[in-house]
Amino acid sequence: MGELQLNGLRKVFGDGGNAIVAVNDLDLTIDDGEFLVLVGPSGCGKSTTLRCIAGLESVSDGEILLDGDPIARKRPRDRDMAMVFQNYALYPHMTVRKNLGYGLKIMTDLSKSAIDERVEETAEMLEISELLDKKPKALSGGQQQRVALGRAIIREPEVFLMDEPLSNLDAKLRTTMRTEIQRLQSDLGVTTVYVTHDQTEAMTMGDRIAVLDGGELQQVGTPLECYHAPANRFVAGFIGSPSMNFLNVERRDRTLLHEAFSYELPGDFLPESEAAGDEMVLGVRPEHIELTDGDERNAVRVRVDVVEPMGEHSYVYFRLGGETYTASVSGDVILRQGDEVSVNFPVDRIHLFDARTGAAVKNSAVAERTVGADADRSRTLSSS
Ligand code: ATP
Repeated sequence: MGELQLNGLRKVFGDGGNAIVAVNDLDLTIDDGEFLVLVGPSGCGKSTTLRCIAGLESVSDGEILLDGDPIARKRPRDRDMAMVFQNYALYPHMTVRKNLGYGLKIMTDLSKSAIDERVEETAEMLEISELLDKKPKALSGGQQQRVALGRAIIREPEVFLMDEPLSNLDAKLRTTMRTEIQRLQSDLGVTTVYVTHDQTEAMTMGDRIAVLDGGELQQVGTPLECYHAPANRFVAGFIGSPSMNFLNVERRDRTLLHEAFSYELPGDFLPESEAAGDEMVLGVRPEHIELTDGDERNAVRVRVDVVEPMGEHSYVYFRLGGETYTASVSGDVILRQGDEVSVNFPVDRIHLFDARTGAAVKNSAVAERTVGADADRSRTLSSS
């Protein structure tokens, strides 16, 4: 078992006028065996949260429960958790074999032969058996990261805590290790909290994602929930790459007025109860913008600013009302700087946010389909 619960977790560094609230009143439950990714921009409090869970930082307020047992005041070594760091933190003077076995040697009363057996098994699982007699300096970054993972796995903890473990690897290796960590985690079924600032890692690895900003939880949900039904403008802009486009609009009944165009909403688009607030932000993801012939309802005429061909698709940057926006279009479409084209923001793909609070007022119709009655399927999709 390894259900982890954070209840009103708060961490303040310093005091008086210099106090920094790194984590504020964080409530989060991570199910037994779940892979939860803590994601957010630099300084949002994700590492501090992880370090509080590990016991490397004291908590200022709140409680951490592991299977219902309060652990916030326990020593790190008594928490039955294993942490994997970005910088591997291997002992340079020890061989891989000793690095792997060291934790068991000092923290358990296992016999030498039992430890040796566990080392061999773990090395096999991570495909590093041939490296057992080498020292860390003779290993590549990817191999060192495998050893660091091995050191966590060998302890058979209740919880894995991973702090940006792939940041020091090159892009290709990161992709491979991403898959590998997912496979290991799912095979071992160990509750995992994984910290990253990289929304792609969050989207591809997590059963659920917890998005933090300024020490506050913005949303927790499956990757598809956060993508299709972001709780607010921050999550909408953070999850998805390239970022969602945001256009300031004024709402007059069923019309959204932008300084360069107007957009007619269908009659049933907004429930009456959520009709308040005239100043809104229209959100549309680059991959949902369509190029059209120009005669469709709500089509907007724009001038192409820059085209970035990526092969299968191209990013097209266009100007509208003095701002630059991004569309992702098929790579087969040939466009050049200065071309005039029409773009369409499909009504079932647009999002509306309250301009003042940033809260989502309406998400895409796809969100309602995926996140509503079909939420279980959305979870399956995200974790498969
Ligand atoms: P990054 O991705 O850059 O590591 P993060 O989201 O992990 O960022 P934290 O490292 O948790 O963010 O930091 C959250 C806030 O707490 C930041 O404002 C940071 O400056 C502050 N902070 C973190 N550790 C300390 C410390 N030991 N003393 C004082 N302030 C700290």
